[in-house]
Amino acid sequence: MANRNLNLLDYSEITGAAPIALRTHGWRAKCLQRLVRLDMPVPKTVALSFEAVRAIAAGSMPDLSGLVGRFDAGQLLSVRPSAENTDWGGPGAVLNIGMNNARYADITETHGEKVATALYLSFVQAYAQHVARLDPDMFAVSEPSPRALEAALDDYEKEMEEPFPQDPKKQLAEVLRSMARAWEGTSARLLRQAKGASAEAGLGLVVQAMAGGYGAPETGAGVIQFIEPVTGAPQITGRYAERGQGREAVSNNPQAMYLTCDPRGASLEELHPAAFKSLVRHGADCREKLREEMQIEFTVVNGEVSVLDAVKVQRNSRAAVRVAVSLAEDGIITRKEALMRVTPRALSELLHRQVDPRGPRDVLARGIAASPGAATGRLVFTSTAAQASASRGEPCILVRRETSPEDIRGMHAAAGVLTERGGMTSHAAVIGRGLGVPCIVGATGLRIDLKNRQLHTGRRVLSEGDLITIDGTAGEILPGEADMLEPALDQWFTTLLDWADALRDIGVRANADTPADARIARGFKAEGIGLCRTEHMFFEDDRLTVMREMIFADTGPDRAAALARLLPMQRSDFIELFSIMEGLPVCIRLFDPPLHEFLPHTREGMKQLADALDKPLSEVVRRSEELAEFNPMLGLRGVRLGVTLPEIYEMQARAIFEATIAIGRRGGKVVPEIMIPLVSAMREVELVKARIDAVAAAVRVERGNGFEYRLGVMVETPRAALRAGEIAQHAEFMSFGTNDLTQMTYGLSRDDAGRFMSYYVQAGVFPEDPFHVLDTDGVGELLLIAAERGRKARKSLTLSICGEHGGSPESIAFCRDAGFDYVSCSPFRVPVARLAAAQLTIKGDEASDQMPDLR
Ligand code: PEP
Ligand code: MG
Repeated sequence: MANRNLNLLDYSEITGAAPIALRTHGWRAKCLQRLVRLDMPVPKTVALSFEAVRAIAAGSMPDLSGLVGRFDAGQLLSVRPSAENTDWGGPGAVLNIGMNNARYADITETHGEKVATALYLSFVQAYAQHVARLDPDMFAVSEPSPRALEAALDDYEKEMEEPFPQDPKKQLAEVLRSMARAWEGTSARLLRQAKGASAEAGLGLVVQAMAGGYGAPETGAGVIQFIEPVTGAPQITGRYAERGQGREAVSNNPQAMYLTCDPRGASLEELHPAAFKSLVRHGADCREKLREEMQIEFTVVNGEVSVLDAVKVQRNSRAAVRVAVSLAEDGIITRKEALMRVTPRALSELLHRQVDPRGPRDVLARGIAASPGAATGRLVFTSTAAQASASRGEPCILVRRETSPEDIRGMHAAAGVLTERGGMTSHAAVIGRGLGVPCIVGATGLRIDLKNRQLHTGRRVLSEGDLITIDGTAGEILPGEADMLEPALDQWFTTLLDWADALRDIGVRANADTPADARIARGFKAEGIGLCRTEHMFFEDDRLTVMREMIFADTGPDRAAALARLLPMQRSDFIELFSIMEGLPVCIRLFDPPLHEFLPHTREGMKQLADALDKPLSEVVRRSEELAEFNPMLGLRGVRLGVTLPEIYEMQARAIFEATIAIGRRGGKVVPEIMIPLVSAMREVELVKARIDAVAAAVRVERGNGFEYRLGVMVETPRAALRAGEIAQHAEFMSFGTNDLTQMTYGLSRDDAGRFMSYYVQAGVFPEDPFHVLDTDGVGELLLIAAERGRKARKSLTLSICGEHGGSPESIAFCRDAGFDYVSCSPFRVPVARLAAAQLTIKGDEASDQMPDLR
């Protein structure tokens, strides 16, 4: 390939005025230019553009005379990557380019053999690994020595069949070429594309004069930053290594000293007080002018500081929130910018305990990260054992093949839940998120041996009572007890979310079934309850028996008697919910699941039930068999129960109305919302509505009290979406239950899909698990059809989503665009939804600011 002179436009010495842009030269070059403009002592640096690097990767090696001519003769150089975005990575830096036999001799003379050997050897090692792509182990030495250097040069020559290159220009050319090609490699490309880079994303390179005055004792390298990376609290952290070079010199070097107050001896501040002071000043300048917390890489030579590079401080979510809020409070960035700097999903890390990222991580098995947060506890395999463990005050992890409503009490008692089967909307996942209990589902690499009470993880066999940690944020199962970070609902978090609320234009409610959920929802400033799944109220011990009596009732009067006993319990549930929510809207969904879910599934359980009901075991078995369905999720559930066994809904409606009156008598005001689940036909709504209206009329007369209520439906079947126009004639609101709607649109069981979903996603059949990320094409089209037809029939129709998708930023964007009034999600996802909604408003404002003025 013909040599090509590197066009002047392709590389620029970084000065304040040089034409350096993020889109042409990358963030590092841009950042260095800013440091130069801030008058920081940056060594001479030349930036190669994306275009130049692309040409180099394609084989067009330029004549580097012009570039090298910018530096002093004999100057050692470094090359670092400069992509458009810091997160997109790039090849590692190569230092000491220019070291050769002649420089070795010079430096030996001026600074001694030890220094010259260390420099030359480290360059040969880096060159062999990154440029010649030789095995780094071959060049590893325990202690740099002239013999080790000689051996390294010999090995290089043997492997490459040519001597180690001596011409600095050739060395530089080869380094540039290898870095340019590394960027084009498949794995590097896939990695950066996973982080949002486009296929064409370019790489710039930064060539810089090495600023190490090697040899002298008062020379060294270090990094400094001004916040603690886990909490974001102001704190000077970093290390300084005397006679060191580059980041590596401090990263794993126990000898590297603290920058200030080193308990082991002198710190940089004591050794070089003026240098330390100027670094602190540079840090403050970076914060103010670059509007970011930066980590500065520096050298000190005879007390003089050089700033080699600055990168955004790596931080976890907690620190990201604090940094963004502090910068805005100090007037350095706007509140909107602060809101845009925090990833909404990352907030859930602050709400739960997390495995400390600084600790070791030995992953035994993986599953679907179904409910965030981490927990350590002793392994138990049954809900009863979980409850027993909780009563002893011993945290436990409940491991089940899959959970069913019978396990709710065990899940309440457990510190974490792990299931072999299931997906994002299976029972364990939904309940786990609702309770805020860390949960992993679909851990298909596990095998539960219930007989021996053991858990086989492939590598290890764990027994009941063994300690494990589950990380529901990462979906990882770890042995023993991990170090944890506690939740951080601090002032920074609260402030950021208050700013979000002031901006957002779509409501955020919570799915809350119990008083405990409702309290959490209020703590997270939900604007109401968007879904109260009332069936969860029947799983409490005292109610379960009465519920079962109701299910077993042969006659209308027997059923009425059981329901009459449930009524006061339901009424007090609603009074408590209404009191906690203090006038905020509460949407109560009438009974939804198939009745047989309330019956025991084991012979032992049936025997206990027969005793409790004073009925023969055969009758309990017979009734259970009668209620069993081949396809319970498509069977007698939801509104179908309301139509065929209307007494249940009548009891619930009465409990709601009586609770409303009770709150009114205490001086409160509530307008309850009653939601009918799983409708598919207008007639179902008409029938149920007539009965509920009749109950309301009766309660008003009996109590001599007026009250208002709103009646609406859950849209969970494709037919309900298609017939939304007629259904809306009888419904004041429609809430999309996208768990069932996804299940029914795809004809895909939400409880079984986890078994093959990862295969489907990996094979590209589905872009994502549709139970996790709303399928905006198919399910989304049904949502849009229903919204349009529903609103056409009733302009004031309130629209919302209450399936698990309600908490995901992408679904919130979809719902906002579709003109929905609010989203409702598990309490612990409320903060995520509040921030995501605010970001959408900000993005919308920015887009409209950029619209051409049409007047
Ligand atoms: C739904 O189907 O989306 C829903 C919210 O109801 P559930 O998950 O209780 O079936
Ligand atoms: Mg549903």
